[in-house]
Amino acid sequence: MLERAARAAIDRAGCFGPFKTFTQAAQTLEEGEARASARRADALAALGGKRYPEAMAAAADADAFLLNAYCASVTPQPGEHRALWCHNAFGVQGMDWDAAIKLLADNGFTAILPNMLWGGSAYYESTVLPVAAEVREKGDQIAQCLAACKKYGLQCHVWKVNWNMGWSAPKDFVEKMKAAGRTQVHFDGKPEGTWLCPSHPDNQKLEVDAMVEVATKYDVDGIHFDYIRYPGPDECFCQGCRERFETAIGAKVMNWPADTRRDDQVRQKWLDFRRANITKVVAAVSELARKAKPKVRISAAVFRNWPVDRDGVGQDWKLWCEQGWLDFVCPMDYTPENAQFENWVKGQLGWVGKVPCYPGIGLSCWTQTNDICKLIDQIQITRRLKTGGFTIFNYDVSSARDIVPLCGKGITKKP
Ligand SMILES: [Zn+2]
Repeated sequence: MLERAARAAIDRAGCFGPFKTFTQAAQTLEEGEARASARRADALAALGGKRYPEAMAAAADADAFLLNAYCASVTPQPGEHRALWCHNAFGVQGMDWDAAIKLLADNGFTAILPNMLWGGSAYYESTVLPVAAEVREKGDQIAQCLAACKKYGLQCHVWKVNWNMGWSAPKDFVEKMKAAGRTQVHFDGKPEGTWLCPSHPDNQKLEVDAMVEVATKYDVDGIHFDYIRYPGPDECFCQGCRERFETAIGAKVMNWPADTRRDDQVRQKWLDFRRANITKVVAAVSELARKAKPKVRISAAVFRNWPVDRDGVGQDWKLWCEQGWLDFVCPMDYTPENAQFENWVKGQLGWVGKVPCYPGIGLSCWTQTNDICKLIDQIQITRRLKTGGFTIFNYDVSSARDIVPLCGKGITKKP
């Protein structure tokens, strides 16, 4: 077993990105060639001597030397919007915000989108949403992240998860929302429980007020929508939705909720109603935030297939671009298939019009997570299609350790 693993490690060394063999990589990557070849010779010698763990370690070194040389051989493109989403409101585990932002700036990134608020919790001193318990101990996370961004010259676009109250929403808040009929109900009549109903005026107001609060209270570069949609076609069928829908169309629905699917006229009106509930929030946030802070930029993470998703989840993001409510849009194009990624982006560029599209790259969602070569490929696709930038998911311990520094050697290298 060990012998086979050692042989495989040696065979694998140098086989990444555009290279199929060690020789091919070594011939192309002069910078890493000498050290890589020396370590490969060590690996073969250790294999011959049946010192398998040593052979594997040497093969790994040989591979790393060439991988580093490959990453350094890729050229940056100046002027790009180079962003990462950061799903954790406390940044990268083991680093404070200062260190996490410095690392990005040192390696040529230009923006971060930190997830600082949900439907039912805030990681800053909010007067609109319940403040997450950890904030008392660890402090206001927007303030800390933003201070680091100002210090190192990175843009900060604060990311809100809309509607979904989130795992850290206080229980009493969630219970209060349920009791007030403000949470979603599935098509089959069962309560959904974690998402707020988008047609409820108080929920719309809560979403708008929270995002405008961030834009007003902090000198952020932008605010960023996420989950700005329904969970799926099966929501929301709460009593309030029925009443508000009937008011909107000026008629009773005879068979609720079946007619929203069976009767085509009702169905079209139902889909319009859902879209309008979501769109209303986007428009209001955009208008109010810009009124308070004319330079603030509004953006959204969106599902990739607009014509389908505008019906399925009520996310009409082409309209949001046309109306000028968004300053840029990040479709979540999470696929390990480069050709698929390219096709998706091409389609999206047709929908955004003049609004910049910075495609989301699913680094930590691929089956082989954190594949630097695939990341380089997909960044190069965004360049070929002239998007002007990209957005990587996700900034965490492993991407901070393994990916960001390798990007900084070449593809995002600072001048
Ligand atoms: Zn509802």
